[in-house]
Amino acid sequence: MKRFSYGKQFIDQEDIDTVLESLKSDWLTQGPKVKEFEQSLADYCGARFAVAVNSGTSALHIAYQAIDLGKDDELITTPITFLATANAAVYCGAKPVLADIDYNSVNIDPEKVWQKISSKTKAVVPVHFAGLPCDMQKISDLAQKNNLIVIEDACHALGSSYKVENEWIKVGSCKHSKMAVFSFHPVKNITTGEGGAITTNDESLYKNLCALRSHGMYKDEATAKKGKWYYEMRDLGYNYRITDLQCALGLSQLKKLDEFINKRREIASWYDELFVELGDLVKLPITTTERFQSACHLYVLRLNTDKLISNRKEIFNELHERGIGVQIHYIPINHQPFYKKFHYEPNMFENAEKYYSQCLSLPIYYKLEKADIEYIFNQIKEVINNYK
Ligand SMILES: *Cc1c(COP(=O)(O)O)cnc(C)c1O
Repeated sequence: MKRFSYGKQFIDQEDIDTVLESLKSDWLTQGPKVKEFEQSLADYCGARFAVAVNSGTSALHIAYQAIDLGKDDELITTPITFLATANAAVYCGAKPVLADIDYNSVNIDPEKVWQKISSKTKAVVPVHFAGLPCDMQKISDLAQKNNLIVIEDACHALGSSYKVENEWIKVGSCKHSKMAVFSFHPVKNITTGEGGAITTNDESLYKNLCALRSHGMYKDEATAKKGKWYYEMRDLGYNYRITDLQCALGLSQLKKLDEFINKRREIASWYDELFVELGDLVKLPITTTERFQSACHLYVLRLNTDKLISNRKEIFNELHERGIGVQIHYIPINHQPFYKKFHYEPNMFENAEKYYSQCLSLPIYYKLEKADIEYIFNQIKEVINNYK
């Protein structure tokens, strides 16, 4: 039986050679590949600076710490995201406040964000879900009016862009935010094994992030006066460093990013064409509009459960039995037992709840070919037709 997961890395000989070369060099960590990767990433996104770390979660944590998010602060984000977006706020002692999604885009609804702003709100963290950019102009206007800091969780959106006044802007350029956070986990648009990064145009934030990644240690003009050996710990930082081996892989992957994204977009368009046949039994994701271009990190099909005599669970299980490794992105954060302490419980957000009951992420990754997509479509069609 053919088996497909929902996401998978693509590693070629160039990647392997690049890592081997780095392995044979003098630097396994804290060497030149880290800086090179950061520069390439910043250039790609159109930001001044990038700081690479050992995961997307670490990147979120130090981004939140760099704005001094702490006890008594609130950070507004979406219930439909990976746990880490909210968890990192809890690491800082702050409270994650959830604001419902827009049902069609699956992105946080700026109107709902506005309703959740309190005197404690310090930051808003839009997540570009599946790679479809949030309305950054609206969110940054809202943030400016209310004195909030915008940090983009761009873990799905490396290579996505949005249009403002006829100009296409890359996610990660931070034109409408203080920082943007990326992940390089193997299911993401490029991989370093584990890894993450923050982009920013703010030099002092950049320096702070570099220190936080490595124990909060600073070596600069002020410390140099005291001696070459001298360093100063000014913040409580961590060891969130990424290795040169990983950054070598990242550099080689970054060269292929546009090719990866073109393929993802092609796969999404194949699904779009095929699923027309199922009519209103399913709802298709938004990938491109006049103003938004998704990097198509996920392809989330929505089952019209009103028209099916099954719930999503039976369809999910049957597809797995047929080797189609569909996935659910995501269980709303407010469903998690841990978040009870913040007075969250299931069924608090109407759109998130409805979306969650219907969503099914289909396989989408570079190596899939048209015949695979047709095969996957036919399996899904058979299963759905059994429940009509
Ligand atoms: C993957 C992901 C993260 C976490 O990244 P890791 O590299 O796995 O730590 C955070 N937010 C979102 C939206 C993600 O998809």
